[in-house]
Amino acid sequence: MRGSPELPQVGWSVEHTLAQLDLLRIADVRWKDGRAFSLAYLASPEAHDLATEAYRRFSGENALNVEAFPSLRTMQSDILSMVSGWLSAPPTARGFFTSGGTESILMAMKAARDQFRHDETRPIRQPNVVLPTSAHAAFHKAAAYFDIELRLVPVCSETWRADASAMANAANDDTIMFVASAPQYPQGVVDPVSDIAAVAQERGVNCHVDACMGGVTLPYLERLGVVVPRWNFAIDGVTSMSVDLHKFGYAAKGASVIMYRTARLRSHQGFVTDQWLGGVYGSSGVLGTKSGGAIAAAWAVMHHIGDDGYLRFTKAARDTTLAIAAAINDDPRLVLRAQPDTTLLSFGVAPHPVGDSAATSSPLDIFAIADGLAARGWYVDRQAPPPSVHLTVNAVHANTYGMFLADLNAVLDSVSNRRGSAGSYGTLE
Ligand SMILES: *Cc1c(COP(=O)(O)O)cnc(C)c1O
Repeated sequence: MRGSPELPQVGWSVEHTLAQLDLLRIADVRWKDGRAFSLAYLASPEAHDLATEAYRRFSGENALNVEAFPSLRTMQSDILSMVSGWLSAPPTARGFFTSGGTESILMAMKAARDQFRHDETRPIRQPNVVLPTSAHAAFHKAAAYFDIELRLVPVCSETWRADASAMANAANDDTIMFVASAPQYPQGVVDPVSDIAAVAQERGVNCHVDACMGGVTLPYLERLGVVVPRWNFAIDGVTSMSVDLHKFGYAAKGASVIMYRTARLRSHQGFVTDQWLGGVYGSSGVLGTKSGGAIAAAWAVMHHIGDDGYLRFTKAARDTTLAIAAAINDDPRLVLRAQPDTTLLSFGVAPHPVGDSAATSSPLDIFAIADGLAARGWYVDRQAPPPSVHLTVNAVHANTYGMFLADLNAVLDSVSNRRGSAGSYGTLE
């Protein structure tokens, strides 16, 4: 156990400090070795080193004011333009670079709230947003922060996809937005975006597509010949989209984009005040001071990987996902929650283990399986309901999934009635 260290009386040398940092990280999950199926992404060591170097060069620059740093203005606008291509965004589309999927979603919710609050014909004072139970927790955070009611609609029981007609029924005159995900995180399926956008359009309200996970992957899956339902701005009623560059864009952490169909929709996102002693203060998103590092890293990595690289990395991640899904499908002890639409999947245990009747043994415990994987150095997400292991498969896993499947098999053989802990997706401290 460490005590409560104080600020050193005399500052440490660079060498000593870096050595201490390396000591601190010894228990961290080895994501660069392809051992984390969550939280971290690696296209190639080269792309990662480039991101790190670009981050280092711009870590002290501040995107709060791009008048002072025209480099950051240019990089942000280049990034938005490249992302527009992935989203089939119309020429009218305008966006912002944000610190992550959560900020992108917070901003889409806040912008919708203010847009309808200031509607000239019928201002909405107590807005609600209709979303499937599979939509990301960030929408719940936004609702709590911005005082927006959430109308949660169960997903379809067999497919885990959002139920567009149930969502239509959940709306009322105070509904300002519908949410669809491409794909949703928990089971990795793409919602019926066209149907949900049509419902929104009919009511004259917004439709946000959360493509935090799929925004980079889906355009390449389409090019690889995978049949993908329509999911982006090519659908008329879609008004905004979120895409995380720090996931399948393989950028450094702190990189996402929120894109709106028009500048008018985007205009409700920003914040300006002159009611303090510091003059006019404006900012586009949640952050004030904002490191140039994440912007430079995203810009560098996107240019370095390029279109052909993203195609290659998407294929590697997709092939790996399908191989893991097939292995799970073939194992009578496990059930795949859904055939993966992209590169995310989740699985649980079969109701009864093979060869045992319900009378002689209880089912395996999926979280005990996750514990077994952790003991062998694998980090997987645990989620519920239903109790499941979740895998986010990226390019790095092409090298390691064989080992993972062998360990999964060994863990399944050794785990009998042990109980594991459910863990959590995020932590408070
Ligand atoms: C990761 C994710 C988010 C939230 O993004 P952060 O970058 O973790 O803030 C939102 N939606 C989906 C579908 C995600 O996978």
